[in-house]
Amino acid sequence: MGDALLIRGGTVLDPSQEINEPRDVLIRDGLIEAVEKDIGPERAARTLDASGLTVTPGFVDIHTHLREPGGEASESVASGTRAAAAGGFTTVFCMPNTTPVCDSPLVVRSIIDRAREAGHARVLPVASVTTGMAGERLNDYRILLDAGAGAFSDDGLPVENAAMMRRAMQAIVHLGVPIMDHCEDMSLTGPGVIHDGPVAARLGLPGIPRLSESLLVARDCALALETGAHLHVCHVSNVESVEAIRHFKARGANVTAEVSPHHLVLTDEAVEAFDVHAKMKPPLCEESDRQVLIEALEDGTLDIIATDHAPHAPGRKETLIDQSPFGILGFESAFPVLYREFVAAGRWSLEFLISRMTHRPAAIVGGEWGTLRPGRPADIALLSLGRPWTYERSWSRSRNSPWLGETFDAGVAATVFGGQVVHGADRFDG
Ligand SMILES: [Zn+2]
Repeated sequence: MGDALLIRGGTVLDPSQEINEPRDVLIRDGLIEAVEKDIGPERAARTLDASGLTVTPGFVDIHTHLREPGGEASESVASGTRAAAAGGFTTVFCMPNTTPVCDSPLVVRSIIDRAREAGHARVLPVASVTTGMAGERLNDYRILLDAGAGAFSDDGLPVENAAMMRRAMQAIVHLGVPIMDHCEDMSLTGPGVIHDGPVAARLGLPGIPRLSESLLVARDCALALETGAHLHVCHVSNVESVEAIRHFKARGANVTAEVSPHHLVLTDEAVEAFDVHAKMKPPLCEESDRQVLIEALEDGTLDIIATDHAPHAPGRKETLIDQSPFGILGFESAFPVLYREFVAAGRWSLEFLISRMTHRPAAIVGGEWGTLRPGRPADIALLSLGRPWTYERSWSRSRNSPWLGETFDAGVAATVFGGQVVHGADRFDG
């Protein structure tokens, strides 16, 4: 039987195989061996009772910030991946805006080593497009991929120079990975704090216009069309960006795009009480933008959901809103928030939501995760639906979530990574 583990009695939902029915999952040597009805317990040394739970592939998040190296007051690879496990995520990509920037094989390998030591989730570092994210020199992408990088991005900053971005696209076009694009025209953002709309006007805060994002979305989609490179647009926030993506996709550009849970659920109204947990980049826009984002995810213009998990140490984030850094936590709230807002409310099937958090994001970066196919890594989320779950603590080193303390009608009961129970093990004791 080796180290075989049987997850028994649950409902398996795996959109990659169109499975949605009671099945058992047999795991051996860290891999999925079988997903079948009524697998006998004699085939495994250990059994987890999943009755009443929904068994899905572990979630895949291709846009997160783990802050290590250099930002350990806010997060570490170990604390961030522990929070990921608590949220059902088993594969995460972390952005390179660390100190030093992730632009060398040394930093790529050190992040991967830290993740292996911690053992909570698989981490693929996103290496920077330009050296030091300074926008002046391209990195050697082949060497960074060989070291274990999963994609390229200067996230946190745009690649401001169009010729530089074009050369970067020409360099990655045959490498099989995307450039993940933080689209922001810094000259239009200026001192902006929140979306340039009625709320900013009422509060007297400097605004960030929609064009700050959508101008660069249009520019880089045009470059993707010309070069044939795969461009992945990060955290799309407004109607004008959606229209640009739709236009260039229709013309054949190799463009994919993500939307974050907070942009799907919140608007700039959330800033009304000067709430620092509603301050992020790109800024939360208006209800009409939010509706367009939801429809764009539904019609495929936006491909996937990514959290943009952005921890900031309590001492830094909880200050005056114009001084507070941009961004909020994402891992632990993503599934409960989206389940409540869209699945429990009857707008999406659970399958729709899970597919956009599992095999679809994996496909964008060419990964073999996000599925329960036999032979693949045994990365699994066990979801508890229709029972209260309170976001009462975070495994992150930071606390910057607008949802901390709230009770939801679904949660992640346990997470299995590479065949090991990495979250919720206490549930199965005895
Ligand atoms: Zn970004």
